Amino acid sequence: MSRAAEVLTKELGSPSRETVKVIAWNARPDLGVVLQIDQPNREQGAFIWVPYPPDGQPVPEIALEYPGESGRHSNTYPSPGLGRGFPALKLAVKTESELEDTISFIKAFRDSMPLPVVKLQPAEPQSPVPVDVSCMPPVKEQPTRREAIPRAVQREVWQRDGGRCVECDTREKLCFDHIVPFFRGGSNSIRNLQLLCERCNLSKGNRI
Ligand SMILES: [Zn+2]
Repeated sequence: MSRAAEVLTKELGSPSRETVKVIAWNARPDLGVVLQIDQPNREQGAFIWVPYPPDGQPVPEIALEYPGESGRHSNTYPSPGLGRGFPALKLAVKTESELEDTISFIKAFRDSMPLPVVKLQPAEPQSPVPVDVSCMPPVKEQPTRREAIPRAVQREVWQRDGGRCVECDTREKLCFDHIVPFFRGGSNSIRNLQLLCERCNLSKGNRI
């Protein structure tokens, strides 16, 4: 049993459902918690699905965004309290401290308390290297950038774009490009990032 499953069972009691793909708990009739256990890349951490928080409550920083799906729960893993098409968050939990914060988040959610902020933690030294890191480009330097692109965001963009330049398909000299430039208010969101090669990035820079 994985560490995440162990901790969730300790805090939420016995799972309500176990399959080859998921272990699910029903923390409250309308609050399902689903731990995905069939993911191929365990280095990415444990994937825990929870309902989207109520309006005005913070979304954990470790939540992955899915452009075009508006955070809808994957139809693959329906569960009591987290049904098909239910607005949901996929949390990528990679460190022990993120796991603790996630548990506090779920318990506060269950008890209708104000939700704590779940911060994205730097990877613990003993945790495995994230998937594809060997061929992930360094983040492009820009003097105007105030915050680095979170690694979870980099991984999602890299996977969405298939590790290729979105303009010319090359795998050479790639960098993360802000579609709306940072200095024009573009953010570090998955939606605003794309993979570009050095050449296409330069020609885009010239157009701007
Ligand atoms: Zn290119």
